Amino acid sequence: MHIVQVGMEYDVLKENNRIANSNYRLLKENGIKTIELMGSIGSGKTALIIKLAERLRNKGLNVCAIAGDVTGEDDQRRMEGSGLTAVNCNTGHECHLDANLVKKCLDKIDLDKYDVVFIENVGNLVCPADFPLGADYRVVVISTTEGDDMVRKHHDIFLHSDVAVLNKMDISDAVGVDPDVILGDYRKLTGGLKTMYTCSVKTEKGIDEIISVLGL
Ligand code: MG
Ligand code: ZN
Repeated sequence: MHIVQVGMEYDVLKENNRIANSNYRLLKENGIKTIELMGSIGSGKTALIIKLAERLRNKGLNVCAIAGDVTGEDDQRRMEGSGLTAVNCNTGHECHLDANLVKKCLDKIDLDKYDVVFIENVGNLVCPADFPLGADYRVVVISTTEGDDMVRKHHDIFLHSDVAVLNKMDISDAVGVDPDVILGDYRKLTGGLKTMYTCSVKTEKGIDEIISVLGL
């Protein structure tokens, strides 16, 4: 029984990768740069997307977002409220987006019109790691409010992402978290090869650096 389950899981992941590749090609054919954001509920994914999109729109770029959640349209509404065009993407039960769901959202977007698409994954630090969606960059967002052990507890998501961001730097003292512990864990995990970027969406500190790291 266990072997059968493992086999099924393998097929699901293989099929997801196939669709992710086709999403990637579709986005590239349309000259679109795509950024996926992963992270826990409350890490600041939506706020970061809204902030980055604001900067990009000021540069004259056309930006759109896919708001992934299990249920509800809260994030899509927040995005639309900031002037960002957003498509809602509910998984129903699943705790992660998959490439097929993203494909269905891309079908609803007039890809001719956009330069950049943000994809906000469901708030979860575990299974999104296994399901690439076809983005140029997978970004993991954590915040100081989540404690100093996030990297030690969630190796996979950090190893499967291209860029890691530590948000809510402005309140690290108030929540009693030393950012250097988190940054040190990340350096250790990535063999000293990668740096976690720090920011505060609220004060806008570090936002420019993230834009430049993502080549936006
Ligand atoms: Mg959100
Ligand atoms: Zn999941």
